[in-house]
Amino acid sequence: MTSSKAPTIIIGAGFSGLFTALHLNNQGYPHPIILIEKSDRFCFKPLLYDYMSGEMQSYQITPLYIELLHDRDISFIKGTVISIDLETSRVCLEDGRTQEYGNLVVAAGSVPAFFAEGAAEHAFTFHSKADVDALKHHIMTQCRKAAQEPSPEVRRSLLTVAIVGGGPVGVELALTLGDVLPQWYESAVSVAANETASSLTRELREIRIVLLNRSDILNGDVNKSLRDTAMAAMASRTVSPELMLGASVRAVRSNSVEFTRNSSSECLTAGTIVWTAGTSVHPLVRALPVPKHERSKRGHLLVKPTLQLLSYPNVFAAGDCAVIESDEEPLPATAQVAYQQGEAIAQTLMVKAKQKDPLPSYTVGLRGTIMKLGMGTAVANIFDRYEVVGTVGQAIRQVMYLGLMPTPIYNARTILGWIKDDIFEAHAGERYDIDYTAGYEIEELIILGTALTLSATAVSRAEIGIISDQLESVALRRALAGATSRYPNNSIIRALFGHRRKRDFFLRTASSNTLDGALKKALTKIQQSISILAERTPPEEVCDYKEFVYYCCDCVARAAGTTPVDKQLISAEEEAVLATIKTALGLSRDYPDLPKQLRDRALSGHR
Ligand SMILES: Cc1cc2nc3c(=O)[nH]c(=O)nc-3n(C[C@H](O)[C@H](O)[C@H](O)COP(=O)(O)OP(=O)(O)OC[C@H]3O[C@@H](n4cnc5c(N)ncnc54)[C@H](O)[C@@H]3O)c2cc1C
Repeated sequence: MTSSKAPTIIIGAGFSGLFTALHLNNQGYPHPIILIEKSDRFCFKPLLYDYMSGEMQSYQITPLYIELLHDRDISFIKGTVISIDLETSRVCLEDGRTQEYGNLVVAAGSVPAFFAEGAAEHAFTFHSKADVDALKHHIMTQCRKAAQEPSPEVRRSLLTVAIVGGGPVGVELALTLGDVLPQWYESAVSVAANETASSLTRELREIRIVLLNRSDILNGDVNKSLRDTAMAAMASRTVSPELMLGASVRAVRSNSVEFTRNSSSECLTAGTIVWTAGTSVHPLVRALPVPKHERSKRGHLLVKPTLQLLSYPNVFAAGDCAVIESDEEPLPATAQVAYQQGEAIAQTLMVKAKQKDPLPSYTVGLRGTIMKLGMGTAVANIFDRYEVVGTVGQAIRQVMYLGLMPTPIYNARTILGWIKDDIFEAHAGERYDIDYTAGYEIEELIILGTALTLSATAVSRAEIGIISDQLESVALRRALAGATSRYPNNSIIRALFGHRRKRDFFLRTASSNTLDGALKKALTKIQQSISILAERTPPEEVCDYKEFVYYCCDCVARAAGTTPVDKQLISAEEEAVLATIKTALGLSRDYPDLPKQLRDRALSGHR
């Protein structure tokens, strides 16, 4: 029998577990919340490729829990849960501690599935920051060896990366490596040439990135519709990944992959082998005494639409651990599902805490998918209707993910909600029938969305860079004014607000493909948005966009206008953009003058 004061325990602080805890805490949950997690740091897995390529830094994608949970009423236990006793409502940790729970949330994620002999021993995985560090270190070592290797055959094998698994992880990894591996090799070659004082010439075509898959790439995945886009992206990488389809991998050796294709056995020699061929149910979940008929075919816990286990109403499961019993097709194992389920569990626990019946059922809204296509480029698939490819796709991807960052930056999250909900979701019901005659062409909507996206990216980057608690929407102006001294290492801030020469340097060096160009692009897009808005009387239903674009502009313009640093040195071009923004805004305007609805959102950070 559990005591009525027993805490709610959450196992795993990933997308579902951490967000359950944060939402509970935000809503003033009356019971103690204990979050048990084996790592010190949250891992934002969808951005691991960006970390590998150097486009993002480790502190951005793996913030410390201690910082994320600072000032929150959540007890964090760093530890590994090794068993759950569903009958006595206790969890047992590896270090011998036990914890009694009133409610339990099982959110331990999934583990890599190895189905070929030797795969676990010889292949790298791509699930965590540690995996990425190990893989990157290994590939760079291979590059260094290859740079000094006289034999072309040996070089070629050192420089071959075999990726087993053509799902989204394998595809995104191959595409990212297609751009970044040549850079690593080139720098290894130039270091080797300096060291040996010789002129080494090495060919990028010695690099091979081979993606092996049993069937076609992205087959049966939520990203299936992006197959052709991914194929096109492969062709335009610095080194195009090769596909070996119809390859059933049987064994992985220390430097080769054995597989069967067209009924014959083949072997690929590779200096690096990465295993991305699917995930399997977490051992903790597998070990639970839950009967087969209360599990999915693959062993996940079946849950009710309330996300409760079928026979244990005080136990919830979410994310990669769970499958909803009534769903004909299991939801994809993705961060967007896990995140929404975390929020849903928090709502249900709140209702439970108030002893209200019945508990709400939730449906997860799939808002499209996003894939990285290479360095600085991505595709955003919005409602299976629009594909935004390239740098804008990348900006959307960044902001979508920044919005899922479990930091207190309300602005990014709120902006995300507005972009998704106001611009796209408002039309969800009429998914195939957006009324373009209402005043906006799709291109214009995309420009508006982009303006929001880019300005949001720019302003939130400042915060993401330091993962701090300081910024809420209303604090944005204050946080960004005097930004150069506050964020001395943030290149976006320096680009806009820094000393003229530094600013010029950053603006010149920020390629249009990099995120650091975001602010410059934001200003241009904002200008475009404003002229579109100025030309048209916005229809009622898109009125919010205008307010919101103005709000974003306001944030940027105010920050620029109030910066103490060499305002007079802003270039004529920048000045013109800022002047347009300021005129459009009327600078006497202050936050209290914003429309009430918008102000309320800004203040609460929630819809
Ligand atoms: C490389 C990669 C790229 C991805 N890209 C995307 C993408 O682009 N879009 C997308 O939507 N999804 C993506 N995913 C999938 C997405 O990350 C997962 O579906 C999502 O993280 C699942 O959330 P979760 O809460 O179930 O588990 P997780 O986020 O994996 O969290 C589980 C947590 O539990 C902890 N834990 C595990 N075992 C224990 C234990 N015994 N005791 C205590 N703590 C424990 C783990 O340390 C972890 O923090 C990607 C996954 C990977 C690996």
